[in-house]
Amino acid sequence: MGKLRFRQVHLDFHTSEKIVEIGEAFDPKEFAETLKKAGVNSITCFARCHHGMIYYDTKFPAKHPGLKRDLLREQIEACHAVDIKVPIYITVGWDEYIANRHPEWLERKPDGSPYGSGGPLKAGWKTLCFNTPYIDYVEEQTIEVLEKFGDEVDGLFFDIIFQDPCCCNYCIEGMLKEGLDPENEKDRKRYANRIVNEFKKRMTATVRKYNKNCTIFYNAGHIGPSIRESLDTYTHLELESLPSGGWGYDHFPITVRFARNLGKEYLGMTGKFHKSWADFGGFKNQPALEYECFMALAHGAKCSIGDQLHPSGAINKATYELIGSVYNQVKEKETWCDDVEAVTEIAVFTPEAIRNDGIRLYPSVQGAYRMLVESHYQFDIVDEYVDFSKYKVLILPDMITFDAGLLNKVKEYMGKGGKVLLSYKSGMDREEKEFLLKEAGIKLVGDAQYSPDYVVAGDAVKEGLLDTEYVMYERGLWVKPSEDSETLAEIWNPYFNRSYKHFCSHNQTPVEKDSGYPAIVKRGNIIYFAYPIFSMYKEHGMKAYKQLVDNSLKLLLKDKIVETNAPTTAHININYQPAYDRYIAHILHYIPERRCNIIDTIEDVIPLYNIDLKIKLPKAPAKVYCAPSMQELDFDYEQNYVKVVVPEVKGHQMVVFEF
Ligand SMILES: [Zn+2]
Repeated sequence: MGKLRFRQVHLDFHTSEKIVEIGEAFDPKEFAETLKKAGVNSITCFARCHHGMIYYDTKFPAKHPGLKRDLLREQIEACHAVDIKVPIYITVGWDEYIANRHPEWLERKPDGSPYGSGGPLKAGWKTLCFNTPYIDYVEEQTIEVLEKFGDEVDGLFFDIIFQDPCCCNYCIEGMLKEGLDPENEKDRKRYANRIVNEFKKRMTATVRKYNKNCTIFYNAGHIGPSIRESLDTYTHLELESLPSGGWGYDHFPITVRFARNLGKEYLGMTGKFHKSWADFGGFKNQPALEYECFMALAHGAKCSIGDQLHPSGAINKATYELIGSVYNQVKEKETWCDDVEAVTEIAVFTPEAIRNDGIRLYPSVQGAYRMLVESHYQFDIVDEYVDFSKYKVLILPDMITFDAGLLNKVKEYMGKGGKVLLSYKSGMDREEKEFLLKEAGIKLVGDAQYSPDYVVAGDAVKEGLLDTEYVMYERGLWVKPSEDSETLAEIWNPYFNRSYKHFCSHNQTPVEKDSGYPAIVKRGNIIYFAYPIFSMYKEHGMKAYKQLVDNSLKLLLKDKIVETNAPTTAHININYQPAYDRYIAHILHYIPERRCNIIDTIEDVIPLYNIDLKIKLPKAPAKVYCAPSMQELDFDYEQNYVKVVVPEVKGHQMVVFEF
């Protein structure tokens, strides 16, 4: 199979059958040369698109009516001639051609209406059910691709691989046969999940009958803990995450911090678009594209940039000037980015691992991500299958309730010296009736009777805070601390809750007095916050919330991996590259700004100068230098920390520590 290439393009080609001059302006030589010049070394091209159209000489009737050439074959031949790989794209969940001819194969909601575009009078995709004979067609067409292109198939990218809780005839019949209750939403979800996992198993087995080496990926636009059930059907992971396309700038770094522990090679996929897919004429600013690609590198990922080919087949030169402006920089950097391992100290447990409500980014995880990255901590996002013992601190943000398995796992981790920071309902049973983690030294009294209320920090967690009461905008819990625990901060009450009966001024009621309940409790190696502090930071952005968490973490984690005077807008990742026995610090400094109503953009690179960087290393380095410039830096090494001054960070700077 070989390794994933660093500089990939995902070349969409969903092309309406109403457009007739398909591929007429395609020039194989120009196509390959343009890609080569832009530094692209892998490009995913189309066998079958969401319109259901096929782009090679096929036995199936869905060949695009406007296509007069064997486009996919020409793309593959032109690219292979210059050592560019061409994984092949096959749509699954959306196929307009089939959807219009076989409405009985569409996914149905309980009321019988189809999932997808929003009705017959709306433009958009209809969603096909994976439990219908449609999947036989998908398999046959895939086999045709494998037979036709043989050893030229570098990989297969199956798209729209998800199944909604479906009530089509096939699914109702299937559920009844298995003793499931179609009227029960949980049963419908469970069945849908099984159907999609079976699809992956079936397809991977089929592909392997014809091709032992090609890559196989199933795209659902997000990768979370549920992928474990079918992980062995994938060869690698592609993290689709277009910050301006609905995913936002937090999605990729959060997702990749989970995905990088799954034992597969992975890439980060963004787009060249100003907004999202198929944004013809929409171009991302170069600094934004740099940020998104360099962020992938900083997280040990390869890069992929989405584009869409014009129906004429003419490659857009401007697009590849933009992509080239970034990929030719990636090329210079990738030596230090291949086969790296993240160096981490904290694990953040994701609610995705214990919930099944389809939420991709929980505010609690986003808040934790923001706090930690802004404070330059090194961390992963984990589920219960990750070995906690490699982390110094485990964070259970806001809503990580326990079953017996998770309780035992956390206890075992603590038994070996692991430290835990948990908040709000984390550590309670799944019904949220009591705290199961007795080691935390707290007993539930109930919901706090006042909200908003106030927090007064004690000396141990006061650093960087004003000597005053801080408002807590969301309701916390009242808990009773055990005798042997220490209250780090107190809850103070307002005079009354704001209501029509009594209110004061425009907003929350002013503070009155100490409630007698703790806001933060420490017992041994556990610190508990009585508020959903992480989602509160995501929602309200109050620096004091982050400061309280940072100050508490400092009580648990005495030797943070990175100490720096870099601003909170600088993100720092530390990687280890075993093949060279060297550490690489990535400093990223790009600042997304909400200048318009709908998306964050980045227009400028704002350089940083003379950044103090202290990094914990197991031994003194022999050489420290900036990469790729190879500029050597003076350094000191004492008490396990190497100290350097990074002269300049223009968007992205790698600093390499060699022994
Ligand atoms: Zn169905």
